[in-house]
Amino acid sequence: MAGKLRQAEAHAVAIQDKGTGLLFDAALLPLLNDREFATEFFIIAGLKATIGDALVATARKTELPLCPRCRKHEPLLESGLCERCDEVIG
Ligand SMILES: [Zn+2]
Repeated sequence: MAGKLRQAEAHAVAIQDKGTGLLFDAALLPLLNDREFATEFFIIAGLKATIGDALVATARKTELPLCPRCRKHEPLLESGLCERCDEVIG
């Protein structure tokens, strides 16, 4: 299950309500769109969150390659490892 989730990238749109019915506050957008936070917190390969007129969420399989060391879908460097693993090994 976690493996399947790690292969997913998600896009979430929250309704901006004049009342208190926000799914999340706009002030959280920078945090939700921080790749390092979102991928660790939600255990997914990526997340794009925006404020819109309708509540929408989509998910698709990521095109990012699998890092052989940490088994996360991340952009890989010339070493064949993700940036984080490359720093640890290098
Ligand atoms: Zn890695």
